[in-house]
Amino acid sequence: MHKDLQSLITLQESDSKLSRAVAEKKILPERMAKLETAYLESKKEFDQFQNSFNDLKNQYRDKERQLKQGHDDLRKAKDRLESVKNNKEYQAILKEIEGIQQKKEDVELEGIMLLDVIDKKSEELKEQEKSFQGVEGKYEHDRAFIMDELQKLDQRMETCQQENDSLRAAAAEALVKKYDAIRKLCRDVVVVPVRKEVCQGCHMNIPPQMYNELQTSAALMSCPHCNRIIYREEPPENAGSG
Ligand SMILES: [Zn+2]
Repeated sequence: MHKDLQSLITLQESDSKLSRAVAEKKILPERMAKLETAYLESKKEFDQFQNSFNDLKNQYRDKERQLKQGHDDLRKAKDRLESVKNNKEYQAILKEIEGIQQKKEDVELEGIMLLDVIDKKSEELKEQEKSFQGVEGKYEHDRAFIMDELQKLDQRMETCQQENDSLRAAAAEALVKKYDAIRKLCRDVVVVPVRKEVCQGCHMNIPPQMYNELQTSAALMSCPHCNRIIYREEPPENAGSG
């Protein structure tokens, strides 16, 4: 194979490796962002559940306070009953006591109902806690994996770039210029094989005479349709070892 052709193919492989790395480098942060979003979503859900549970507990504490207050009010009212001066006042305090009793009973009932809900929710909270721990563990794991991939990718890119730089430095400047110009136009491969008179870059037929010349030409040849640098993929069966 032509010496220049071989170095261009090597450069092309190196360029492809670099573009793949660049594409990956773009994808990894996107994956990371998706991961973060999903994790934060789960965390928000769990926090909300936990907050509503704490809210219930606060409501229950409030009932306990109200109950204690009712107890105190009741004791004070009963004390007042002992120093009552007339029947009217007596009746009024009795009515007051009845009111306090009723309120106490209501609060007690509300407290019992709250306790019931808290019991059920605390079971659910345990489940949610367990499942969130799982989510958190997977998140940490995946995050560490992506960070590691990013680091490895950076190292790989650096090596690729060094390799690419030295390949470009080693090749003839004019050749690299031509290669880069075609690459800019074609966006992908620059050096392509020709199989059975068909250019593998644009899949068009090249003239038979040109196909024959490909075997013997000392200069690099280009496809007349897509301008890519072409070569015959396999030497004809009847050719010697040259
Ligand atoms: Zn072509």
